[in-house]
Amino acid sequence: MPGIKNVLITDRLSNEAFLTLQGQAYLKVQKSSKTYPTEDELKDTHALMIRSQTQITAELLGKAKNLQLIVTATSGFDHIDLPACEKWGITVMNTPWANVPTTAQLTWSLVLASVHKLVLGHQQIKAGDWNRHLLTSTELSGKTYGVIGLGRIGSKVAEIAKCFGMNVLAYDPYCDEKNFQQVGAERAAYEEVLKGADVISFHVPLTRETHHMLNKSQFEFIHRGIVLVNTSRGSVIHEQDLCEALDQGWVGACALDVFEKEPLPRNSHLLRYPNVILSPHVGAASKEAFARASEQAALKLIQFFQDGTTSDTLPPKAAWFGLDSMRWS
Ligand code: NAD
Repeated sequence: MPGIKNVLITDRLSNEAFLTLQGQAYLKVQKSSKTYPTEDELKDTHALMIRSQTQITAELLGKAKNLQLIVTATSGFDHIDLPACEKWGITVMNTPWANVPTTAQLTWSLVLASVHKLVLGHQQIKAGDWNRHLLTSTELSGKTYGVIGLGRIGSKVAEIAKCFGMNVLAYDPYCDEKNFQQVGAERAAYEEVLKGADVISFHVPLTRETHHMLNKSQFEFIHRGIVLVNTSRGSVIHEQDLCEALDQGWVGACALDVFEKEPLPRNSHLLRYPNVILSPHVGAASKEAFARASEQAALKLIQFFQDGTTSDTLPPKAAWFGLDSMRWS
């Protein structure tokens, strides 16, 4: 049995996962009162169990001299200074599969709500109106769906598009042919997808390459009337350029779960458009995704201390990832 290891939980974790950790005789589990733990809490900690509210900075690591492991029960990892962790020899793992079904489901909820103008219809009824002629929709069968980033979530979204009888075009220069074939997507250049798709959704990580990858120069030629959805990261789309494209009437409908600045500022121009649907970054907000992420994170922590097993270590081994790829300003 490993020697006693002190685990500090700094954010929400399911009760089940908490009890699983507590059930290990060699783990001393403590909950921090804050998402940013104190120096006193950190000094004897061997493992941190976190979510995105806990910023792992070089300064925090400097106070955690015994730290060996960080597990974040999230798929994103922008809150962790990975070069600093590497420098201190700290193993970092995340739970990148836990949110996939929920985020793919949200993406499709936004697509369908946009196509059927559901929010507008709902608002009309509440205002005492019954103007069905303003709510004309489009049938998706036989139309083209464009996926940008054919990874875990993009692949699931593409599979669902096939169920609606859609043709799927996908742009992902880092994804191998096997995955395209598995989901039944046709490989296409970025410009081809933007010109050819009736509906498009973004599923890329935020990197130097993807930062503002949809901006004025693409809106100039994007398929007129396109339905545009983003559940990846806000800064993938240049929001001001998007507003100009909406002003021009180039975008038929748009739905966003993520924003350049979160929470979305009250004076954001995006709030003005009847054909824009907004949700407050809820792609991972299901009960099931939370339970899954908590459970997977707890098991990763236990296995690491039992026999050194690691999985989904960060930085990711993906071809698109280089520590430099995360810098864009
Ligand atoms: P993933 O790593 O499995 O897939 C990303 C795909 O993007 C990969 O196939 C990669 O090859 C591709 N890619 C990378 N750079 C690219 C580029 N320049 N052009 C085109 N493709 C590129 O990631 P995932 O788990 O599917 O997550 C996708 C996105 O969704 C991430 O940004 C993640 O942070 C976000 N996400 C959001 C929520 C939410 O709450 N809205 C929840 C989970 C994940």
